[in-house]
Amino acid sequence: MKKYVINVERKKHRRQHPWIYSNEILTISGTPNPGDVVIVYEHGKLIGSGIYNPNSLITIRLYSPVEEDLNVDFFKRKFQEALKLRKTVLPNEEDFRLIYGESDGVPGLVIDKYQNHFALQTYSLGVDKRKMIIVEALKELFEVKSVVEKNDFRLRDAEGLPRQESVLYGNPEPVIISENKVKYKVDIFSGQKTGFYFDQRITRAKVQRLSKGLEVLDVFCYSGGFALNAALGGAKSVLGIDASKLALELAEENARLNNVEKVCKFICADAFDKLRELYRKRLKFDLIILDPPPFFKSLKEKSRGLRGYKDINLQAMKLLKSGGILVSCTCSHYLFWQDLLDVLNAAAQDLGRNFRIIDRSTQGPDHPVLLHLPESEYLRCFFLEMTND
Ligand code: SAH
Repeated sequence: MKKYVINVERKKHRRQHPWIYSNEILTISGTPNPGDVVIVYEHGKLIGSGIYNPNSLITIRLYSPVEEDLNVDFFKRKFQEALKLRKTVLPNEEDFRLIYGESDGVPGLVIDKYQNHFALQTYSLGVDKRKMIIVEALKELFEVKSVVEKNDFRLRDAEGLPRQESVLYGNPEPVIISENKVKYKVDIFSGQKTGFYFDQRITRAKVQRLSKGLEVLDVFCYSGGFALNAALGGAKSVLGIDASKLALELAEENARLNNVEKVCKFICADAFDKLRELYRKRLKFDLIILDPPPFFKSLKEKSRGLRGYKDINLQAMKLLKSGGILVSCTCSHYLFWQDLLDVLNAAAQDLGRNFRIIDRSTQGPDHPVLLHLPESEYLRCFFLEMTND
């Protein structure tokens, strides 16, 4: 195998970061192809091995501090390490995000595990080219029934990768998983993203603990994540809203699977319209969960996105009973904690009501955040209680 050496120079504050941008590259020995492994040096010192893509702004993604290939053994070792963490932090769970990209030492790879079925997303060219090696590594560690690539997403564009979905191995079939003892049917192929949003594990468990005897509204409910937790936590009634018919079919099936179909009702509608309609009808709730899709994905869309967050939060606040609780979430990478607080504060001021923060949560431990890669944190939720004054 040819060896390509790249010399780089980074500013001091970027020395721990796993991405190297094109303007940080000084020299390249030979002509590595996009997706090739390169060995990186800085001031004569070995930095490690990286994946090269000259067509991406992130020209090198480092994956190892030493010189090593991206082969079956590498992926197997990373999957074993990742599994060990999940077994420690989620000892009672079998279904989780097994690999969360850079945070698990594999840049550009996401793998969700649903029993013995696996869904993967690849968003770096070098990892995408090695999909079948990844399948091999999974097969050496698990009794794999199927591996599906769910690669129909925007991040792939930046790496020059086509958007596509396909079966890489075996026979995918709908599978029943559990999270916090709640059961869900997951259809990897027809489901959104990889089929299930594992990232809200902690927030869902907290909602379950809060719900006893309450009238609950789950806005942007997808396959019923929060609605089911509320119902199993003893909610008096639960209303779920989502714009996707397919998602709601799953939510209804999941309600039956958990024997809470009498408590849960689901409505297919645009959330912005539906919340206004519920307000006109003078309906009120004790607990409202807002878990919207990202309203913006880049910094230049931020101010428009913030207006969306303010609007939906204001509409939700208007539907709260006095003393009620709003769980307000965002999964926009660039909406930071302080931004969300500002949005909530602005909405509360428009309404003329006071709130206090009683809890907050973030992505679960199967989505670890790298201290030196702040971009790996994206999910932020505040639990606000409306005070009686
Ligand atoms: N709370 C869910 C995940 C929500 S993902 C869970 O725990 O699993 C965001 C959801 O918002 C998706 O299901 C999507 O279909 C829905 N959605 C997007 N835009 C919407 C809109 N304008 N109105 C209602 N639902 C919308």
